[in-house]
Amino acid sequence: SASTVDFVAAIRTIPDYPKPGIMFRDITTLLASPETFRAAVDAMVAPYKDEGVALVAGIEARGFILGGALSHQLSAGFVPIRKKGKLPHETIRVAYSLEYGVDEMEMHRDAVAPGTRVLLTDDLIATGGTAEGAVKLLRELGAEIVGACFVIDLPELGGRKRLEDLGVSVKTLVA
Ligand code: IMP
Repeated sequence: SASTVDFVAAIRTIPDYPKPGIMFRDITTLLASPETFRAAVDAMVAPYKDEGVALVAGIEARGFILGGALSHQLSAGFVPIRKKGKLPHETIRVAYSLEYGVDEMEMHRDAVAPGTRVLLTDDLIATGGTAEGAVKLLRELGAEIVGACFVIDLPELGGRKRLEDLGVSVKTLVA
C-alpha cells in the first residue's frame, strides 16, 4: 500500500544537473516502477477524493504524466498548462520567474469554465514561481483552485509558503 512505499528511495538525485551545484530530483525512476507510480498516484489523489474536483491542470511536462493519472483516478478532466507557443487555439499567457530571468506559459482561453473546481499538479515545487504562474492563469479563467499537489517539495526554497500566501493549499508526498 502507499504507506509502505518509500518515495524518497524511488526518486533519484542527479548532482550538477542541469548545471554545477544543482541537485536535480529525477522522478523517472519512481514513474518506471509499477509499485511506486501507483502508490504515488493513490497517495496524491487520496485527499481530494471527496472534493468535487472536475478538472486537473498539469504543468508541462512532468505535470502531464501525473495529471493524466490523477484525472483518471478522480474521474476528472485534464487541462494542460504549456510553455508559450504550443497550444493551437486562443490562449491566455502569464510571465513567471525562473532562477535567471522569466519565461511564459499559456492555457487555452476556453479551457476552464468559471467556477470549475480545479486541482493543480506538477512533479516538484521549488521557489513556487512556476506554480504561481499557473495559479494566475487558472484564476484569470475563474477557476476555483481546490489545491495544488506535487511529488516533491524543496521547502527551503519557499514555494509552499508562496502558494499558501495566495490562498492555495499545498500537499506533497516528499518534503
Ligand atoms: P519553481 O518554479 O522554482 O518552483 O520550480 C519548479 C519547476 O521547475 C517545476 O516545473 C519542476 O518540474 C522544475 N524543477 C525545478 N527543480 C527541479 C528538480 O530538481 N527536478 C525536477 N524538476 C525541477
